[in-house]
Amino acid sequence: MVGTVLVTGGTGYIGGEVVEQLLTKGYVVHTTVRNAAKSEPKLRARWSDAGDRLKIFEADLLSDHGWADANTGCDAVAHVASPFPLAVPKDKDELVIPAREGTLRALEFAQKAGVERFVQTSSAAAIAYGHPDKDHFDYTDWTNLTAGVPPYIESKTVAERAARDWVAVHAPKMTFCSVNPVAVFGPVYDDDMSTSVELVKKIIDGSIPLIPDMGICVTDVRDVAEAHVSAIEAPAQKVRGERFPTSQKFLWLREMAEIVRTRVPEHAGKVPGRAMPDWLVKILALFMDEMKQIKGELGNVRDVSGKHTEDVLGFTFIPAEQTLEDTVRSLVEKGIVKA
Ligand code: NAP
Repeated sequence: MVGTVLVTGGTGYIGGEVVEQLLTKGYVVHTTVRNAAKSEPKLRARWSDAGDRLKIFEADLLSDHGWADANTGCDAVAHVASPFPLAVPKDKDELVIPAREGTLRALEFAQKAGVERFVQTSSAAAIAYGHPDKDHFDYTDWTNLTAGVPPYIESKTVAERAARDWVAVHAPKMTFCSVNPVAVFGPVYDDDMSTSVELVKKIIDGSIPLIPDMGICVTDVRDVAEAHVSAIEAPAQKVRGERFPTSQKFLWLREMAEIVRTRVPEHAGKVPGRAMPDWLVKILALFMDEMKQIKGELGNVRDVSGKHTEDVLGFTFIPAEQTLEDTVRSLVEKGIVKA
């Protein structure tokens, strides 16, 4: 299928890669930005060959303005936009409201415009939290909000639940599915990169002097985008109602550091080699927000399987080692890190 797709949040790390892959395949792409005066020149420069195949609309998740025009003539929507900040907000509604209301707004305007397929960028945050005794998860699992989870985790879980409930009641004929990435890395376009890539930046630029005993699952931004595009192109019966976690592998931070040392030794001079003792994390957590988040993850395995996605959508994820190497090389190449 080659047609017209609305990608919300084309300024973002994942949204940008979805736009890139769709344009490469010949689609007409509509994308939303919050501030056209600021973002349009940048997007036009990135996709200078796209011409009329790229249409940019100003639309905020918290307002109806612009959404009708953005959806007009679209066959599918990839709803990627959602706040993903580095710092934990004081008020969780700063994340939960735009995530939930923005998703419902995107769905309502898509339905009014006759859009038949809607792919929501959810997250492993909606899968793998609030289950202290469990360490392996897959597409069938849901985060347990009654356990009390951080605001970002709540925002993604609430938004995915709300979308599924809304579609069941208001748009049962629409083909809806979600893509649920774990931590996303890979090549960056410029220094306006996602919170997730900040972690690799910090590993190579010397801002993490010691490595805490923490792990994460790794996925590549190119695979996350491919999952969106495949979910748009696959036969409806194959993807309807599905959840597509993208996750290549669980790695401890010390293993990530070792991969960087082995695969890109020329940029690994500041990569930490020694462990940060748990007691130090706990003390630092008393006055550092970032350490507070790490403290809750010490020693935890939270391994989300992406096998279902590979099986249903029919492609193989890029190995995490390659993803990390490409992340480092691109951070250095773009001058974001002087390693
Ligand atoms: P990002 O680079 O920060 O992109 C976020 C996008 O959302 C930006 O385009 C941003 O627009 C837009 N946005 C935020 N608040 C908005 C609002 N009120 N109205 C309109 N647009 C708004 O982050 P990302 O990593 O690409 O994340 C994209 C999606 O993937 C999010 O839904 C996130 O939850 C999900 N995700 C990310 C990861 C990861 O590790 N990166 C993992 C799992 C899921 P502006 O440019 O105007 O700020």
